[in-house]
Amino acid sequence: MEVLVAFGFKVYFPENHSALIGARKIADDYIPVANAVGYSPEICSYLTSDIGAYLRNETPLKDAYGVSSIPKPDVLAVNTNQCRDLYEWFSFFGRRFDAPVFSIHPPKYLDEVEEHHVDDVAVQYEDMIARLEKMTGERLDEAKLKEAVALSLEATELWKGFLDTAVHVPSPLTFFDGTIHMAPIVVMRGLQIAVDYYKQLKAEMDERLENGIAAVDDERFRIYWEGMPVWGRLRKLSEQFVDLRACLVASTYCNSWIFDDMMPDDPIRSMALAYTKVFVNRSEPAKERYILDEIKRFKADGIIFHDARTCPANSNASYGMPARMMEDHGIPTLTLDGDLNDLRCWSDEQATTNIEAFIEQLEER
Ligand code: SF4
Repeated sequence: MEVLVAFGFKVYFPENHSALIGARKIADDYIPVANAVGYSPEICSYLTSDIGAYLRNETPLKDAYGVSSIPKPDVLAVNTNQCRDLYEWFSFFGRRFDAPVFSIHPPKYLDEVEEHHVDDVAVQYEDMIARLEKMTGERLDEAKLKEAVALSLEATELWKGFLDTAVHVPSPLTFFDGTIHMAPIVVMRGLQIAVDYYKQLKAEMDERLENGIAAVDDERFRIYWEGMPVWGRLRKLSEQFVDLRACLVASTYCNSWIFDDMMPDDPIRSMALAYTKVFVNRSEPAKERYILDEIKRFKADGIIFHDARTCPANSNASYGMPARMMEDHGIPTLTLDGDLNDLRCWSDEQATTNIEAFIEQLEER
């Protein structure tokens, strides 16, 4: 993001477009369209909903903003710090629009991010910059890159400040608020507008804290959400937790956009570190340590793991973590089977019953 902003590109995020498709509950119209041209129903449903919408020549941006189609890219830039699917997704659009795809492939499953990992990724950044310079015919303006990184850092610190207000008991926000307010930190990093947005939001949260306003009236339980949101069920789930007087106080997902390793004076190496260090790119023990720290910090009573069928990369219930959290650390856990966008993988009845049973289990403790 910061490199593209420094070059003066307007940056568009297909992931955000997919989340919008999911939240509007229209992904099921599009996923089969992508399946029909060979993209498996088992792969990322962000990818299949977005490609399906493109093939149908439809976009929710039309209703929301009067924008009739996604923009035609001059270049696609992708970092596979999350998964392969993102690269395949961007490559589809690269072929469609006859635009180059520039990619960064950091080392994966890291327990600690070491100097040689950062060296590797920093070299890839230099290479991407050289390709962009050749493509645009312009040299990268280092001052602009530093400025973009400084603005990213400021926005990320404000975003963290917003999320951290949930440390307070009762919490003034829920995970569901986070899923909405995260948009600027995802798509507007490196821009002043993201900083302005979070300054205003943080001030509002501080006011809520001062006045003792809770997100969930009479908060009884505090829960950590691990994994992707179920975009088409934000309201339904949020209302169920309010009824149960349980607050989802924190999540790995919203925290994943805290990039506080950015350093404006060392933009390339600090970006390499920040974007390689992301939770999803780490080893299972590193992820476990991170979640345990967060559970303690946010005083959470239990963890809900969302096992998203089409996003194994960002689901952490498959390698024994829920069982270890319970057996080794005494933390109650619930695993919900579902998906980020493909609601055919989600059962309202099953989720409702399982969440109720989980809250009863917390009551008994
Ligand atoms: S991390 Fe998951 S949701 Fe994101 S692009 Fe990869 S598979 Fe899709």
